[in-house]
Amino acid sequence: MSRRPLRIGLSARIYHPQPGATGLQSKSLQYLEQSVAHWVMSRDVMVFMIPSVSGDGIVHRSSIRLSDYPQYLDGLVLQGGADISPQCYGEEALQAEWAGDRLRDAYEMELLHEFMEAGRPVLGICRGAQLINVALGGTLYQDIATQYERPEVHVHEAYDAHAHAITWEAGSGLGKLYPECDGGRVISIHHQAIKALGKGLRVEARSIEDGLIEAVRLEGKPYVLGLQWHPEFHPPGSTDLLNCNPILDEFLTAAKARHW
Ligand code: MN
Repeated sequence: MSRRPLRIGLSARIYHPQPGATGLQSKSLQYLEQSVAHWVMSRDVMVFMIPSVSGDGIVHRSSIRLSDYPQYLDGLVLQGGADISPQCYGEEALQAEWAGDRLRDAYEMELLHEFMEAGRPVLGICRGAQLINVALGGTLYQDIATQYERPEVHVHEAYDAHAHAITWEAGSGLGKLYPECDGGRVISIHHQAIKALGKGLRVEARSIEDGLIEAVRLEGKPYVLGLQWHPEFHPPGSTDLLNCNPILDEFLTAAKARHW
């Protein structure tokens, strides 16, 4: 009997129109980064971007709900992107440029809640890991460079080529998934980071140099894993960077468990 391919939902990145912009840049855009879609599609998976229904659109909340999506999709990937608004964890932005994107926060928190409620697995990447932490009551460093003592470099103009080393936390699921190594080098670019852990989360990996949290996992069910780094930026077959296929396969195995 042939089974249908897995269907994985991807949260949208949101571009808000800039004052004075013309053409496409005067519109609200919802988009995905090709690399993350293609990483998930490197397995037998169909990827669907889930547009936000909040904001300046004409969709009535009463007719289409984000809660409808988990019925049709087997799992959710939360993409990277803009900062989380400090207001989501009870703080004001210390600088205007750290104010984040409250619209996207609300949309992705609702998505996360609905997928978790339906027992569907969730994988958060970079901002996605931070979103999971904040949604579960945790807090963030608004700016690692000024708020964390002796930080490793987590922001760099090299962007998707900036790597640093991480190590698995003792007893973590990632440690079990990679019995042959203690960690690896990952593409990790972020100026916010997890501070206080959200409820039910445990630390899975830390930056070797400064101990910052680089991965979190929900204890128990459903499967919820947040990676502070970008597995989709790791070139296939790289000998320098961590092979993240075991993580993708673990997430997809959890998605298959809900597969009908
Ligand atoms: Mn990092």
